[in-house]
Amino acid sequence: MGGTLTVDVAPVLGETGATMEVDADVPLESIAVGDTSATFSSPPRLRVTIANAGEVIVLTGSVEATARLECSRCLESFNLGITGSIDAVISSAHPSDEHDEDQEWYPLEGKTVDLLAAAESALRVEVPFAPVHDEECSGICPICGCDLNRDRCTCEPEGGERPDSPFAALKDLLPPEDD
Ligand SMILES: [Zn+2]
Ligand SMILES: [Zn+2]
Repeated sequence: MGGTLTVDVAPVLGETGATMEVDADVPLESIAVGDTSATFSSPPRLRVTIANAGEVIVLTGSVEATARLECSRCLESFNLGITGSIDAVISSAHPSDEHDEDQEWYPLEGKTVDLLAAAESALRVEVPFAPVHDEECSGICPICGCDLNRDRCTCEPEGGERPDSPFAALKDLLPPEDD
């Protein structure tokens, strides 16, 4: 993408305890997570507090977006609202020992920090690996390709029922037939 979201943190640099709020659009059009691609028709919204905690600057807040995803079962596109949370530190050098390993670190460059990576990483963990437009989505018939949410077909996969059909599950619950 090559975008940036540079924030001037000079207002908090001089004084321990000083804070500032940032409310900004994130210049991000899409994120790819594995085989899934989430696209954003409008820019995700970043809302964070930047606080001078002495040794480091602490970045906390969230990023909200409406992700356009493709259903992994029926391939229909749908929108999913996602909110990622951000809990990170900003400092000129990588923080040492006492630094909480779970917190991400972003470099302070002069008096600015680029928050694009923080926003992207917070959104990335919220993108589902196998999105479904509806938990009940029936998917696509593997034989004729019809959308089983809208159409019915009479295809019978070779070797019996579809493994995930409700009838196959029901059969497991019944006692085996006597010969
Ligand atoms: Zn679907
Ligand atoms: Zn079919």
